[in-house]
Amino acid sequence: MRWTERQLAMLREMGVPPFWPTEPVAVAVAAPAPDAVSVAAQPPRTPPAARPASAPAAPARPSAAAPALPAVSEAILGPRPVGVDTMDWPTLRDTVAGCQACGLCQSRKQTVFGTGHTQARWMLVGEAPGEQEDRQGEPFVGRAGQLLDRMLAAVGLTRSEAPPEQQVYIANVLKCRPPANRNPLPQEVAQCEPFLLRQMALVQPDLILAMGRFAVQSLLKTSEPIGKLRGRVHEVQGIPVVVTYHPAYLLRNPADKALVWDDLCRARELQLSRAAARSGT
Ligand code: URA
Repeated sequence: MRWTERQLAMLREMGVPPFWPTEPVAVAVAAPAPDAVSVAAQPPRTPPAARPASAPAAPARPSAAAPALPAVSEAILGPRPVGVDTMDWPTLRDTVAGCQACGLCQSRKQTVFGTGHTQARWMLVGEAPGEQEDRQGEPFVGRAGQLLDRMLAAVGLTRSEAPPEQQVYIANVLKCRPPANRNPLPQEVAQCEPFLLRQMALVQPDLILAMGRFAVQSLLKTSEPIGKLRGRVHEVQGIPVVVTYHPAYLLRNPADKALVWDDLCRARELQLSRAAARSGT
């Protein structure tokens, strides 16, 4: 699909900045073997029945030719690390790296802990590492990550080294890649949750931007679709949470970038007002 001049003009009218590809990349038609599927062309992480029309999760649906994945409904569980809620950064990072609390430890290449400024004012939360993230050990490095970087730049933020007002902290709900990018299982999310909560407590950001259905629903402990949760500020552990669509969803539904732009603006206003309140201005 290409943008028509009319569509581009509409977007300009809406004041939506160009943080998406100007030439949207087509979703894979014939899916390769699951292990070679890129983030944007992964099988859906949401079972069709559970996917609300207004708020799909992350990656794209493969063609009918895609190999069927075995249905996985029960996670293999191991012992949960103890004392996570009082760990410092190095201990937390080491604990995540050695975690065997669920079966994902068997298929991961490495854990994907998180990246960014440990005192960032914005913390971004995504779903789980994909193939590229599993290879590189950093969240959001595939195509969705490139789009995320452009979204961040549009509001003056970066993942690269910068002062904490500009550099974000990025983490995922799951620290290990689900095989073939299948949906995270509830037990896997539950086992991994203490790590994310500790990261939030250590960063103490002004706000959390939760991206995509899994991040949003697991952080907010709700099954409501994103479409119903957007537009207001939520709270987790005393930290304001703004919800929005996942960048991988935006790659497939670029028309919704206007909604995400709204969410980013809402988040920016919130962060600026928190900063002003802190400095007493
Ligand atoms: N999608 C996510 O939610 N997280 C990543 O790190 C990569 C893709």
